[in-house]
Amino acid sequence: MLGAPSGKIASGLAVGIYDSIDELLDRIARYLKDGYKRVKIKIAPGWDFEPLVEVRMRFGEKLPLMVDANGAYNFDEHFDLLCSLEEFGLMMIEQPFAADALEESAELSHSIETPICLDESADSLTTLNKIIKQHAAKILNIKVQRVGGLWNAKRMHDRAHEAGLKCWLGTMPELGIASTQALAIATLPGFVFPTDIEASSRWFVDDIIDPPITITSKGFIDLPSNGSKHYSTNPEKLERYIIQKKEFSR
Ligand SMILES: [Mg+2]
Repeated sequence: MLGAPSGKIASGLAVGIYDSIDELLDRIARYLKDGYKRVKIKIAPGWDFEPLVEVRMRFGEKLPLMVDANGAYNFDEHFDLLCSLEEFGLMMIEQPFAADALEESAELSHSIETPICLDESADSLTTLNKIIKQHAAKILNIKVQRVGGLWNAKRMHDRAHEAGLKCWLGTMPELGIASTQALAIATLPGFVFPTDIEASSRWFVDDIIDPPITITSKGFIDLPSNGSKHYSTNPEKLERYIIQKKEFSR
């Protein structure tokens, strides 16, 4: 239905902001051995340069590394600091400024080699067109939930791909049902960076899909191919965890 081929999707590890750099390093070390293809760390003013120095020191220059600021910086105050992150050889800096700060994002994008990725800014095809027109980013994080569903996600992928923006598939708190649909869309050709969708076991004690999402030792999620097994909802688990039920008849 989505026109997406079956295949395998590279998966990346996303880690948050911790109380200490040691905790951050421990968390990365613990999960990186599962095979993830890149590491994304959250940054914010006061938690950026130092943690990156330590992550590079501990895991080396070759670790594919990116940062996500969730719009935490402002242009006047932090422009130089963001430029200084160039030395870490990051895959991208995601959403440095507020969602509507496209002009500022464009200026940063022109000033550094590190590509700028937009996430919160790109909530519709209309804003995506503005991003393209203003050259506000080189990379787009598409989240099915944020853009209003699979069809919108596909249309935004198609538009971004056509305009030369590289994409990757982000994620929001969701059960396996949503993750597996998003994985299907992540096989489209514009999705060239690892997805934030991780193994079911990373977030859930007991996700409600069969089989659970797993990561190969090489960091890929293998999608069940057509005609063989598919992901499905486990009806017993669904029954066990359900909190409200509504039935609709035609
Ligand atoms: Mg983000």
